[in-house]
Parts: sequence; structure tokens; C-alpha cells
Amino acid sequence: MSANRYITEKTIEKVRQRANYLCEYCHASEKWQYVTFTVDHIIPVNKAGSNSIDNLALACSTPPEESLIKLVLSDRQSGKEVPLFNPRNNLWQEHFIWSRDKTLIIGLTAIGRATIITLNLNRNRIINIRAADVEVDRHPPPGDPIQA
Ligand SMILES: [Zn+2]
Repeated sequence: MSANRYITEKTIEKVRQRANYLCEYCHASEKWQYVTFTVDHIIPVNKAGSNSIDNLALACSTPPEESLIKLVLSDRQSGKEVPLFNPRNNLWQEHFIWSRDKTLIIGLTAIGRATIITLNLNRNRIINIRAADVEVDRHPPPGDPIQA
């Protein structure tokens, strides 16, 4: 059962505006989707996360909620245990960069790399969507870093 029923419509709209209508993990733009993105808890309610706006993030429907429950991940490259990227505490641009062709998210940090794998941010389907969006100049979002 979704905990969203405890979050007011007004709060949901604030979260969407704050995110600039981008999925806060993969930076897909809600503008170009048929579906409305979901407002997810960063720390799940069953792990003592609150319904406060500081614990909410806009996400496309496909990080499944259970994947957001993995709060500590291991980065294969460094072997370090790191938390999942937290859009409230971490700046996207410090952890991720777009590949030169703009279709792949590349992790700049252990948090970035572990989050990409856990949330599967470079799925084939999403890569195809990005490639089509690059063609019509609506991806990546303005201000996102791109590999030189
Ligand atoms: Zn997403």
C-alpha cells in the first residue's frame, strides 16, 4: 500500500516543482512522459522515514520502491560501502555525468556508481528513450554536465 496517501497534494506539487519536473535519480523529464512520476520516500517509512518534504523525492516509476530501501550499497570499484544517492543531501552534478553521446549516466563517485547499478539507471529501454530525446534536443536537461 502506498504511503503517498499521507502526503498532501500540495506537498506533492512542491516536490515536483523543487525537482524541476525531473526524476531526481535518472534526470528523465516528466514533461515528455505519458505517466506522472511518483513522489517517493528517500528513507522508507518502515525505516523511520518521515512524510516531511525533506524526505521526499520525485522519481520516474521505475526505480521500484523496494530498490530505494537499499540504503547502504557497495561500490565494486572501490569496495567501499556507501549510501544510495540522496537527492536532498547530494548534488546530482557532483555524482553523475552524461556520456559524450548523452545516453549513459556515468558515476563520478562511489555513491554515483553504486546508485547507477542498484537503480539500473542505464537500462536498454531508458537508453533508447534518451537517444530519441537527444535527436530532438530535449535531453539532457539544461545544466547537466556532459563528458568532454
Ligand atoms: Zn528516473
